[in-house]
Amino acid sequence: MYTVRLCFYGELNDFIVPERRRTQYERRFPQVRSLKDLIESEGVPHPEIDRILVNGKPQMLDALVVDGDCICVYPSEHPVDFAVESHLGRPTLPTPQFMADVHLGKLARRLRLLGLDCEYDNLDLTDERLAEISHGENRVLLTRDRGLLKRRMVVHGIYIRADEPEAQVFEILERIDLYRVIRPFTRCLKCNGCLALISREEATSRVPPATWLNMETFHHCPDCRRVYWQGAHWDMLNAFVERVKARLACTSV
Ligand SMILES: [Zn+2]
Repeated sequence: MYTVRLCFYGELNDFIVPERRRTQYERRFPQVRSLKDLIESEGVPHPEIDRILVNGKPQMLDALVVDGDCICVYPSEHPVDFAVESHLGRPTLPTPQFMADVHLGKLARRLRLLGLDCEYDNLDLTDERLAEISHGENRVLLTRDRGLLKRRMVVHGIYIRADEPEAQVFEILERIDLYRVIRPFTRCLKCNGCLALISREEATSRVPPATWLNMETFHHCPDCRRVYWQGAHWDMLNAFVERVKARLACTSV
């Protein structure tokens, strides 16, 4: 029988049962297991962890637990800089790019509106496929599914706590330093492609006649061919962008 003491810090306490939050507690189990397995059995997905100290010394997720260990588990300090090597040996991401799970389409659309690279597919992608894409394309997996985040293949991931899409965007912006990479109105909201300017002549047959007469500037997505202009929805979209900029200006000082 193994007996260890565990303590979770900061927001990692969101994942564990109330009586074990912010306190050191004892766990007993019969078989040898890794730190990843033990920590995730308490409810904490491994991508949410920044650092593990066992008896005061740093350890990796795959290290085996030893009887009598005292295990302290820490979240990342915010904002996370994925360009810096992590304590747990995760590869760096010079420019964060994202993969939203199938339930986060509204969040994906808003991240694209800010010019952030966010793949999303509302087809019925399995958890396995989402983990594969996140891993294969070095994308930060965004999900509200703890089981998905616990998959070994997922390297970078964020458990989304907020319910509303705009609050979810602010949650991500507070967790990751994204100010330098935000480029509003540069990505296709439908397919994540990068928008390109087209001439009015090119737009002639691709937009309603009244729109063509009233608008000077058109962009299109080379991938899905959708055409964009500052139409009726633009004020609403821009208001969102301005709220984000104001928030970032406050948090970046
Ligand atoms: Zn597109």
